[in-house]
Amino acid sequence: CPCLARTVIDTPHSILQHVFGYHAFRGEQEAIVGHVAQGGDALVLMPTGGGKSLCYQVPALLRPGCGVVVSPLIALMQDQVEALRELGVEAAFLNSTLDAEAARQVIRDFVTGNLKLLYVAPERLVTQYFLDLLRNAPVNLFAIDEAHCVSQWGHDFRPEYLGLSVLADEFPVIPRIALTATADHATRLEIVEKLRLQGARQFITSFDRPNLRYTIVEKQKSKEQLLTFLRREHEGDSGIVYCLSRKRVEDTAAWLRTQEIRAFPYHAGLDASTRAKHQQIFLREEGVVMVATIAFGMGIDKPDVRFVAHLDLPKSIEGYYQEIGRAGRDGLPANAWLAYGLNDVILLSDMIAQGGSSDEQKTVEKRKLDAMLGLCEATACRRQTLLAYFGEAAQPCGNCDNCLNPPKLIDMSEAAKMALSCVFRTGNRFGVGHLIDVLRGKKTEKVGELFHDRVSTFGIGAKVHEADWRAVYRQLLACGALQLKPGGMGGLELTDAARAILRGEQPLYLRERTQKFSYKDRDSEF
Ligand code: ADP
Ligand code: ZN
Repeated sequence: CPCLARTVIDTPHSILQHVFGYHAFRGEQEAIVGHVAQGGDALVLMPTGGGKSLCYQVPALLRPGCGVVVSPLIALMQDQVEALRELGVEAAFLNSTLDAEAARQVIRDFVTGNLKLLYVAPERLVTQYFLDLLRNAPVNLFAIDEAHCVSQWGHDFRPEYLGLSVLADEFPVIPRIALTATADHATRLEIVEKLRLQGARQFITSFDRPNLRYTIVEKQKSKEQLLTFLRREHEGDSGIVYCLSRKRVEDTAAWLRTQEIRAFPYHAGLDASTRAKHQQIFLREEGVVMVATIAFGMGIDKPDVRFVAHLDLPKSIEGYYQEIGRAGRDGLPANAWLAYGLNDVILLSDMIAQGGSSDEQKTVEKRKLDAMLGLCEATACRRQTLLAYFGEAAQPCGNCDNCLNPPKLIDMSEAAKMALSCVFRTGNRFGVGHLIDVLRGKKTEKVGELFHDRVSTFGIGAKVHEADWRAVYRQLLACGALQLKPGGMGGLELTDAARAILRGEQPLYLRERTQKFSYKDRDSEF
């Protein structure tokens, strides 16, 4: 009897079990489901993989009517709808991939109450046509996924998201739940303000991923370093290697294959069928290494990814966190490994400078990059540093590179003064390579032409190793004493913060270099 069936599944737990096949809610899911099911608004901050979807799917199934889910990612919508249909839930999506007839059918089902979940792209939701539809449809909740897209300070700003404030005005009695995995304090405040969620209850899950081990190394020969890491720790494991450019993805994948590692490239420049094929191989087979740009990973749910490696510096801690979040979802130990160098910082800074964002936005992007560099240069626990960025206090983890091998610190304050005065003496515009040549007293053609062998800092740092000079400059960038000149191709200039160091009021410590290596390839790697 259908009525009996209804009473059986009409609690959050029975829906969880009978529809989704899970035994228990995770973490805050139960509280969130209960709150939204009773008509409350909610802001949910939960790391990637934490289980955000159930937080609105279960209430949508509990309440009479249909849940409307706003999502900016077409691929994710399709995956979710497919998965829900397999579970027997009447779900559908509306986005640009549907032809007119299919879209009309979805709308008919929606308005006549034959859907339990409808996924909509934000630009479509805010049209007058759709808002009129909503007034005549049995909507039981609005879920706003990837809610950080409303933040102009965030890394994925989508102007269409600003229009979603209309939901608060037009449908004040329908509960709204906004969800995101990436929101520092400022972004959180902005989500609340822009989506008018002042009255919403906030559910904030810790960003801690205790099973991840963080390791951040200085780039020397990054591909070789990666290979050593893979051979030492991940023989036969599945993992993802992120690179900044498509070309680097291709080169790295091809090279790993010559080293007998089953690696496949993935980036937006590959045609859709190749991408789909590589993704399938990664999902279905074991021991596959996906070498990818950040185009890969949204909505990828493979529990046994044993490592995420970054061959290049991510643009922000949010991006980094999201990418490493794909490792170890099964809760077993997994590695987050990153190699970075000063050239990464220069490249990313130039990308920001030359990008199409407003000046305000560029300042934000720059700050986020600085924070990422700060994490790389951190000498304290990585997990602590990372969580602090998300506003969480934590004890040293005992499981990251810095905890396991506390770096020996050496006082480089004198070297820092030299490094800064060299920037000043040469006119606040040269890149690190040239500055180091001057400090080490190298008479290159450029040094000769510019008469930099006559400045007072020429040759004063000959005894300090070149790699240490690079580390000094990185630290000075990370602590804000130096900045890259906008559009200056790696040129550095002093900031006000340099004064304290020059006056000897602020010491500078560097980790002692433990590895010795050849510098032959430095130009291509640093
Ligand atoms: P998010 O959107 O936060 O990244 P998802 O909603 O995609 O996370 O969930 C991540 C994975 O965890 C999915 O495979 C989902 O089925 C699973 N999951 C979520 N909640 C539970 C639960 N209570 N019990 C078991 N598995 C769960
Ligand atoms: Zn630690």
